[in-house]
Amino acid sequence: MELKIRTELPASLEDVPASALLDELGGPTLFDLRQPGRAPLFVSVLLHGNEDSGWNAVRRLRPRLAEASALVFVGNVEAARARRRSLPGRVDFNRVWEGGDTPEAAVAGEVADFAAAACPRLAVDVHNNTGENPPYAVLARTDPPTLALARAFSERAMLATQPRGFQTRRFARFCPAVTVEVGTVRDPASTERAASFLARLLDGAPPERDGATLSLFVTAARVTLDPEAELEPDMQRYNFRPAPAGTALTRSGGLTAWADDGSDASGEFFALQDGAAVLKRPTVLAMYTGDPESARLDCLCYFLEPIEP
Ligand SMILES: [Zn+2]
Repeated sequence: MELKIRTELPASLEDVPASALLDELGGPTLFDLRQPGRAPLFVSVLLHGNEDSGWNAVRRLRPRLAEASALVFVGNVEAARARRRSLPGRVDFNRVWEGGDTPEAAVAGEVADFAAAACPRLAVDVHNNTGENPPYAVLARTDPPTLALARAFSERAMLATQPRGFQTRRFARFCPAVTVEVGTVRDPASTERAASFLARLLDGAPPERDGATLSLFVTAARVTLDPEAELEPDMQRYNFRPAPAGTALTRSGGLTAWADDGSDASGEFFALQDGAAVLKRPTVLAMYTGDPESARLDCLCYFLEPIEP
């Protein structure tokens, strides 16, 4: 795997779906569309190969991107061909941005160094959720420009302290950076949401939405599904809302809630009752997925706590 760098975003790519990009690009590709004297907007898409709303937004905005000052990184095109988050046996392209000895980590390091040297004014990494969530931004720091960027996308944001190695965490070292979770792949509004947000940022206006408020949460724990456990798809309705004490988080079997320091914090949040994991206290969830494969590859959900922006 080798990073390709191109200085043009050809019009022919407007017709290319994510699943056909590997044939067109040959691998992960950074489009360097900078204009002299203008700090670029950095956009990354397809770090997860099955999450194609970001790429669809880039296709739609291609003529404007070609004129604006931008850097566009198109990530895991191999996984996109297979319509998978990542290929079996390969690392997750959104966990490799803070080092590692994989080919993906080497590409990520090259992209981050290139971007840092270009001093981007903002960085946006576009993702889809597998579960039903309202749109939200993920931040790695809470300085005013980053909060303004998050608020411009949605009234909800999550300050993520884990997992290590996600792209926004690396980019937050050198510019205001957010991950935007634009909705599910199935929902046509997801591409619309990504495109309209990026279009506003391309206009160059400060990313403010008049009168917008921001509900900010911090991740209290990352929750994984125990091997024998069966998830409860109905729980998706509590994403970004408090689930009451006594709610069953699984149909059967247990979970593990991991605190930031890697310790097992399960006992703080839930207990096994009649074989299912049941909340001990009201808890805000996020990213609860109804898809068992995603739950096992990544995690089932996060537990959140509200904080003051
Ligand atoms: Zn993703």
